[in-house]
This record gives sequence, structure tokens and C-alpha cells, in this order.
Amino acid sequence: MIAVVGSLNLDLVAPVPHHPVPGETVLGGDIGQHPGGKGANQAVAAARLGGDVAFVGRVGDDDAGEFLVGAARERGVDTTCITRTPGVPTGRALIAVAPTGENSIIVSPGANSRLGAADCEAAGDRLRAARVTLLQQEVPDEANHAAARLSGGLVVYNPAPAVPGAVPPAHVDLLVPNRTELAALTGTREPETLDEVAEAARLLKGAGAVVVTLGADGVLLLEGGARLHVPAHRVRPADTTGAGDTFCGALAVALAEGEPLERAVRWASAAAALSTTRAGAQSSAPDRDEVEALLAGSGVG
Ligand code: ADP
Repeated sequence: MIAVVGSLNLDLVAPVPHHPVPGETVLGGDIGQHPGGKGANQAVAAARLGGDVAFVGRVGDDDAGEFLVGAARERGVDTTCITRTPGVPTGRALIAVAPTGENSIIVSPGANSRLGAADCEAAGDRLRAARVTLLQQEVPDEANHAAARLSGGLVVYNPAPAVPGAVPPAHVDLLVPNRTELAALTGTREPETLDEVAEAARLLKGAGAVVVTLGADGVLLLEGGARLHVPAHRVRPADTTGAGDTFCGALAVALAEGEPLERAVRWASAAAALSTTRAGAQSSAPDRDEVEALLAGSGVG
């Protein structure tokens, strides 16, 4: 079983002719509403790939919360450890998309910011039984620290989004940052070359292994003194939103099945590449057959 402790957001997406400057009102197109939040995206990606996933999170006691819990459940996630929070709105992300494809985003965490150690303790049975516990930075550190403490399996920490001052749990088996998040964690400038990425990752203390996702440049895996670069699959990307979330969800599935880290990384990078070929965050997650087919075609399995 995989336990995901994290956020659920209602993504409200409006097309705009250009991004407003302070004081300006811009008329946009019709709003699209989609289930989102890094925690929920990763949980749904893992479930779609065949993972047995339990989610620990909070929504408000409102229609948006109902919608998000229903969407996660429909996609195969066990939602019994999602708590409704009276008097607090469900988390929302207000996303404006310009014709260039550039986004500007306001996240209002709402109920996600009320997730605490007590929620993890209440889900203690699930966390102790989980082979993998997957964490991100859209809920308070306190919840992540409690989840890591209670976890009976591997703790995988995706320090996303980059939050200045966020403190990862003391014990993490696997840290999965992208370049920006690695820079935020180490207080260095954003690393460019593989050597710079490896150098920055070496500054991280306390993690068993580090997997840095590099977008179209693939993944750099650092474990002990060893380093392995896994190039990205060559695909035609349509929308890279959620690639990191699909990567983390897929990595959790492979690790929960007992795959060694290198194979798990290759599997996750195939899943993430497929997710970039389709629009959306949750709706772009591939299924298992697609991942196996891509790996079989590229000669790595
Ligand atoms: P995030 O979405 O968190 O910024 P990345 O952009 O690093 O994460 O993407 C996560 C993973 O998705 C990458 O390590 C890679 O495996 C895959 N990926 C992302 N962009 C592409 C791309 N253009 N082509 C192929 N794979 C990609």
C-alpha cells in the first residue's frame, strides 16, 4: 500500500489575452474546473498505474471539497482519511493562462493548511502499513514530520513547490526535487549542468538517496557515492504540467512493488514522459500498459 499525505485543490483555469498588471481588470474566457493539488495529483497517478493508494488530507465542508473527494475516489484512491474541515474553504488554485501558454497562479491553501500531526496519527494504521509514504510541501511541515515518523515503509519526499524556509522531515529515504526545488533546499543558485546538480545534491544531509528531475534532460539519481543519469524519453510534449507529480506517483508504485531504485526511476520517467504528451494534471496520467509499451519500445524494462 502507498500512503499519500498532501494537498487537494480545485484548479480554476481561465484563459486570458494577457496577464493583468496591478490594478488592471482583464476579461477572460470560460473557467474550467479540474481536480488538482500536488498530493491528489500524485495519488491519482499512482492509482491509475495500479497502486493501492490511501490519501491523508483535508478539504473544506463545501461543494468543492465534495467534488475533490469524489474525483479522487472515482479514480481509485481510498479517501476515508480525508477530513472535512468546518468553516474553512477547500484549497483552490486560480490559474490564468495566456495565449503563449504562460501561467500565473494564485494558490489559496484553505483546508490544506489545517492538516496537522493529529490527522496523521488518526491515519496511523495506514501509515504504519504503507510500503511507501509520499509527501510534498503543500501542507504544513508538522503533518509531513508526523507522517514520516509514523511511516512503516520508505519515505519519499518531493519538496514541491519550492517553499522558502520549509523543513523536510529528519528522516527521508528518498528526496525528489527538480532543479528549482534543489536550489531552494540548498540555498544555492539553480544548478544547470549535471555536475552542478550533483554538487548541489551532495549538500543535502539526511536523505538516503536523491533523485533530481530535470525536465527534458531526464533524471539524475544519486545514491551513496554513485551517480546515474537517465535521459528523458523522446516524446512530443503537449503540456508538461504535472510531469513531476506523475513521476512521483509512478516512483511510489514501483518502489511499493519492491523494484530496486534504478528500475523504479526508469519506470517513473517513462510514465512522466507519457504524461507530457497530454493536457492536464490528473487527466494526463498514463496507465500501466502504456508505460510497459514505452519501455518495451525503447529496449529498457
Ligand atoms: P516538475 O514538473 O516537477 O518541474 P520536471 O519538469 O523535472 O518536474 O519533470 C519530471 C520528469 O518528467 C522528468 O524528470 C522527465 O522524466 C519527465 N519529463 C518532463 N518533461 C519532459 C519532456 N519534455 N520530455 C520527456 N520527459 C519529460
